[in-house]
Amino acid sequence: MPDDAVPPQKPRLTTRLSHAGRAGTHVHGFVNPPVHRGSTVLYPDMAGRRAAFAHRLEQKLVYGVMGGPTHWPLENVIAEIEGGTHCQIVSSGLAAITTPLLGYTRAGDHVLVPDSVYGPARSFCDGMLKRFGVETTYYDPGIDAAGIAALFQPNTTVLYTESPGSHTFEMQDIPALAEVAHARGAKVLMDNTWGIHFFQPFTKGVDCSIQALTKYVVGHSDVLLGSVTVNTPDDWERVRGVALSLGQYASPDDCWLALRGVRTMGVRLERQMESGLRVAAWLRERPEVAEVLHPGLPSARGHEIWKRDFSGACSLFGVVFQPQFSQAAVHAMAEALSLFGIGASWGGYESLALPTTGFITRTAGTGRFEGQVLRLHIGLEAVEDLTADLEQALAVLRAHPSGLQDPGS
Ligand SMILES: *Cc1c(COP(=O)(O)O)cnc(C)c1O
Repeated sequence: MPDDAVPPQKPRLTTRLSHAGRAGTHVHGFVNPPVHRGSTVLYPDMAGRRAAFAHRLEQKLVYGVMGGPTHWPLENVIAEIEGGTHCQIVSSGLAAITTPLLGYTRAGDHVLVPDSVYGPARSFCDGMLKRFGVETTYYDPGIDAAGIAALFQPNTTVLYTESPGSHTFEMQDIPALAEVAHARGAKVLMDNTWGIHFFQPFTKGVDCSIQALTKYVVGHSDVLLGSVTVNTPDDWERVRGVALSLGQYASPDDCWLALRGVRTMGVRLERQMESGLRVAAWLRERPEVAEVLHPGLPSARGHEIWKRDFSGACSLFGVVFQPQFSQAAVHAMAEALSLFGIGASWGGYESLALPTTGFITRTAGTGRFEGQVLRLHIGLEAVEDLTADLEQALAVLRAHPSGLQDPGS
């Protein structure tokens, strides 16, 4: 290449979100692919039937449960935004966690899981994995390389990570932890639902990246889906193999909706990131608030790691109230909000508020705050309307008659 030649520039993410996975999907010239529903796949002859089974690792029609032309463009666009080579779409975000956990372990193995892990993943480790002879140790998500190294056992095969935690927003030093894991022959799994495309897992030492597409990819709170993305043939064989063994499947209609969602995700996220940061900064100035748990906010816990490893932030964060506000008062505040629904899940166009103190399980002694924690998801509403709603709800918090403390809270 001559010195003055401009290297071909990779299109920016928003551009790729509009175009990735679309090659060859146009039917009759329409922009979007049709929904292909199907179980039986007809073969022209027996040789065709025999040949099909050689393709279980590829995007080839074999039988409905192995995926088809509505799954493939979604798999391709998710692999593209995460920077992986292969993606398996599964029925929910939780299935995207349990499938690789089964794929990367066998009886007698040991896995390391952060204390901040998504609750149902903890239940899976303590229930089914344990029943199948796999032992779990929960670690402080803020642990450093030396700390995690000390927790490895000869039979540790998986270092599971999630950064930040989806309730208390602890950031993890993924590159440092991954280096330790790889030196000990373990695989690094990460729940990258918060990071979406802002965190590029495969450039940071992650071997298998999990997403709850239910959140921002779907974006409208109406579909449950998950993805498992990898970037080596060996990892793909493991993930794909266990997904097929389990009969993991997602409806083509749901994949089609997720595919529609992903095309607008770039602008939704840009707006939601900005609104989230503005509401978080507004809350940090409030006298009722002790701390805002938003890694994208300067001076917040974990901000340095976020700045180093992430190119943006989603709109899910936590608010810790001053300790004099009781649980009953925070619940009354949540109920007083009119634009924020009380609900789990996140990533849709609407704002949500969820008091979390007392509803999360920790066993490694982390995630405790003096005050009550309220988790907020910021949707696509105008920030001024959201802060006005929070303002009137904070008045309800201050006026709550519970006094200084709930008995037994
Ligand atoms: C919601 C969520 C999941 C699970 O996704 P579902 O599609 O609801 O099963 C997994 N991880 C995180 C961090 C989540 O917030």
